Amino acid sequence: MKSGFVADVVVGTALVDMYASCGELPAAKQIFGEMHHKDLVAWNCLINWWAEKGPPLEAFQLFVEMQRSRRLKPNGSSLAGLLPAVARCGSLQLGKSCHGFMLRRNLDSDEFVVTALMDAYAKSGDLAVARKLFDGMSNRNVISWSAMIAGYGAHGRLGEALSLFDEMLRSGIQPNHITYIGVLSACVHGGFVEEGRRYFLQMVEDHGITPSLQHYTCMVDLLGRAGLFEEAMELIRGMPSEPPPEIWGALMGACRIHGNVKLGKHAAEKLFELKPADPGFYVLLSNIYAAAHMWSEVRRVRGLMRKLGLRKPVGWSSVEIGCRVHSFVSGDKSHPDSDEVYERLAELIYKAKAIGYALRKEVVLHDVEDDVKESVLSSHSEKLAMAYGWSRLMSGKPIRIMKNLRTCEDCHSFAKFVSRVTRREIILRDAVRFHHIKDGTCSCSDFW
Ligand code: ZN
Ligand code: ZN
Repeated sequence: MKSGFVADVVVGTALVDMYASCGELPAAKQIFGEMHHKDLVAWNCLINWWAEKGPPLEAFQLFVEMQRSRRLKPNGSSLAGLLPAVARCGSLQLGKSCHGFMLRRNLDSDEFVVTALMDAYAKSGDLAVARKLFDGMSNRNVISWSAMIAGYGAHGRLGEALSLFDEMLRSGIQPNHITYIGVLSACVHGGFVEEGRRYFLQMVEDHGITPSLQHYTCMVDLLGRAGLFEEAMELIRGMPSEPPPEIWGALMGACRIHGNVKLGKHAAEKLFELKPADPGFYVLLSNIYAAAHMWSEVRRVRGLMRKLGLRKPVGWSSVEIGCRVHSFVSGDKSHPDSDEVYERLAELIYKAKAIGYALRKEVVLHDVEDDVKESVLSSHSEKLAMAYGWSRLMSGKPIRIMKNLRTCEDCHSFAKFVSRVTRREIILRDAVRFHHIKDGTCSCSDFW
């Protein structure tokens, strides 16, 4: 600034990139606003950071703004940079419009664009189109292979994920650490302990990749979910540096599944030291206590959260109808068609109960009265989204729901009944994975 270089487009772009990479998006945008001349590289840089870290819909606004303000023509990098925004918000409609854009601008031979589009389709729930794009690529690089493998893994198509990985090795492409994250997470989703161990070793010994935090997290998750706490702890103790929060978080999740209160508490203590202000871990610990019916401990943890001013993260679910995305929070009454949503939900609950659905009240983790639990549970955001989708989408169309947190056991079970009474497929993407729910069963086999 002192030397007057901010006006220079190259320096300005580098500054935007620097601030954004440090997570300082407002500062990045301010610098961008102060640049007199903004070329395509500068715009692409900003759009890509917004697509990766900012509010995803704002990335689209920037993309439109770029074309309007300086009549710049987006290139392959612009589109490849924008597509992670689609992957993050999981909007199939937006994915399709990017796909159209790619074809109109003849960008379909750009392997980076096609890979990003493939990833966006996989993360928006349409694996078939993703695979079609993958098969049509003449030049597949390690990123395209890795994205397709991770796509299969997240959708619970584990056999396909692992056989694609073998095919990749056979075709002579060297896997990198990202490929192995996809492979190991596929093992986690499938509970494939044996395979997980084998791939972890193979990664180190055959491919010379030093395990990163994500690989360790996958392994701790895999072993913990299988109840192999000794082995998980051994792995943690063998880590080259002090285990970061992610590791303890994965271990705690496993403790919740297996009701391991002692180890859960140990992991929580580590976490409270490392990340004292993260409400998620307090919630997890209180869930572990609640599952063990240790209500006084639940109250103690909740009290601690209040004292520290921490609040449970707000869960929301969205459903796409036509070109619009409708979002709901738990107990939401703000939607203009709110009456319709609750009427249709009551109808669904009635129909589901008639074929055996019972509210899983143990999921509500307070020691409150049963009727309160019932009303809390029956207005969870994913149920509202499901009801609205059922009401508004053409019959036979799948209901696609996106949820920002892990979906609860009750909503998961409800969705299975809904898939039977409505004869529709429900595709639910939560913070952990995809659930393809059809004819009363889910692709995750109740393991998530
Ligand atoms: Zn729920
Ligand atoms: Zn499921």
